[in-house]
Amino acid sequence: MSNISKLLNQVIVGNVFDEPRILEKYATDRSILKMPPEMVVLPENTDDVRRIVRFTEQLKKRGLKTSLTVRGSGLDKTGADLTDKILISMERMNRIQEIDSRSKLVRVQAGITLEKLNAALSLHGLVLPIDANPKDTIGSLICNFAIDGFAGKYHGISHYVDCLEAVMADGNVLQTKNYNRRGLQRKIEDPDDPESGIYTRINDLINDSEATIEMIKDKPTIDASGYQMVTQVERDDSRVFELTPLFYASQGTLGVITEVILRLETMPSTVTRFAAGFETATAAIKYIEELTPLNPLSIELYDAHIFEQAANNGKELGLFAKRYNKGYIAIVSFDDNRFVVRKKLRECLDLVPDSAAAILETKENSKDFARIRTAMRSYLNDDIRGERLHLADDFFIPQNRLLDFIKALPELEKETKKELPLYGDYLTSNYSLRPDLNLETAAGRGNALKFLKRFAEFLEEYDGVLTGGSPEGRIKALVVNSEEDPEIHEFYQKIKTAFDPDGLFSPDVKLSSDVKKFVKYLRSEVLEGITDQK
Ligand SMILES: Cc1cc2nc3c(=O)[nH]c(=O)nc-3n(C[C@H](O)[C@H](O)[C@H](O)COP(=O)(O)OP(=O)(O)OC[C@H]3O[C@@H](n4cnc5c(N)ncnc54)[C@H](O)[C@@H]3O)c2cc1C
Repeated sequence: MSNISKLLNQVIVGNVFDEPRILEKYATDRSILKMPPEMVVLPENTDDVRRIVRFTEQLKKRGLKTSLTVRGSGLDKTGADLTDKILISMERMNRIQEIDSRSKLVRVQAGITLEKLNAALSLHGLVLPIDANPKDTIGSLICNFAIDGFAGKYHGISHYVDCLEAVMADGNVLQTKNYNRRGLQRKIEDPDDPESGIYTRINDLINDSEATIEMIKDKPTIDASGYQMVTQVERDDSRVFELTPLFYASQGTLGVITEVILRLETMPSTVTRFAAGFETATAAIKYIEELTPLNPLSIELYDAHIFEQAANNGKELGLFAKRYNKGYIAIVSFDDNRFVVRKKLRECLDLVPDSAAAILETKENSKDFARIRTAMRSYLNDDIRGERLHLADDFFIPQNRLLDFIKALPELEKETKKELPLYGDYLTSNYSLRPDLNLETAAGRGNALKFLKRFAEFLEEYDGVLTGGSPEGRIKALVVNSEEDPEIHEFYQKIKTAFDPDGLFSPDVKLSSDVKKFVKYLRSEVLEGITDQK
């Protein structure tokens, strides 16, 4: 162990590792990069995180070029949880601190996974209604602000964060809270308050940048790049000022989230599903447009090629095998109570055109519905000629341009010589497609960035946003940074500096992503294990 690692290990309760064998385990995520850290630190509590931050800041002051990157479960698709410097893994900060079932609140450490949290909450009849990868950590759901499968109905993670605790670059702890104007003024003027500095800097920045904030507000859609949620810091004609929104989509660049208080929902009734297969995208979209007023939990849309591919690879599709082998498939889910669901399902059936093969989920056929998920997983992980890369995941296409986009996709498939079947959720307009590129070959590696750039141009023609459903990280940043308005980009830089003046936290993620580093760390081997668990 190096002397630096030993020194850090002395001051924290958690552990420090720097053996290559261990570092290798933290060198990949779900992106196309591979970047082994110099050191991995596993803090146990907020105090440990403060010590790690202060220690690293000291190293920086002594001229060492170093930085800190935070990692949850390492499922990021944009390389934002990788570093060649010091990595803080939140895996041991995974405790539930308290549950208040009467107020439907829970306080957790930020490294807890969605799976572990919801398992514990279910005993209290409560749930955090986020449909994401079960291994996602709460800290990263905030920092990635990814659009989850239930966000169409439940509005996503931001709807459930009451407040959060984060360790800032100066080693102080910030506990976010709503302030009215008077409260904010008091905070700013209190010389003994360690949070005073950050509130002053952000308040000044917001006051000086009204025009830029209006430009961000004028953007036609939600976009997770930069620090777009700055528009939510000051709300309701200045009556509320809170810093929590800045952490959404911040990807660990503003501070380390250590604890979160979450609001919860009562467990809904079981989810009931309904599937319909359409020969054309036009018919599918026309139908699902009519369903939207029924307030479903989700309306998943799949290109049938996905299931055809899975069936070719031997997956058994049961009831779905013959009926859903071409066109588009919609799977509509409801989580209302039994009587309401029954009424809604009747409406779904009334609306369904004769040509669509409709299947209602029942006890008897629910295994077949489960097969859809298995087939999807098989498609995403089938690894035929390489790997289906997470390059064009989580983009936004407005509902009114979806059909044009789908109709034009075959042109892109022809041009790129890739099959690009689309899947996503109509309610959130969050879609993905997975080009299979073989990173083991120089041509495959060369094509990765080329594909992303071409895809971004294509998307723009249909008013799409590459970072609509999750932020830019290290990879999408290479495309979106150059397209951002320079005034907005500069404003985001100022936000980063207000939180992190010396560039301690992931300095090359988001705003300052670096193409040289991308090329250096582009991985040349296929990821081991299953890449998709959801
Ligand atoms: C196959 C697959 C399917 C997915 N499906 C969905 C989906 O349906 N819905 C959805 O919402 N997302 C989905 N995602 C996206 C993914 O789940 C999110 O990116 C998630 O946030 C990753 O969680 P993680 O704990 O692995 O975070 P990591 O990958 O470890 O980290 C993600 C980012 O958060 C930062 N971070 C993590 N913890 C903290 C912290 N405590 N403080 C500060 N910064 C922190 C990291 O620095 C990094 O920038 C999917 C990903 C994969 C691979």
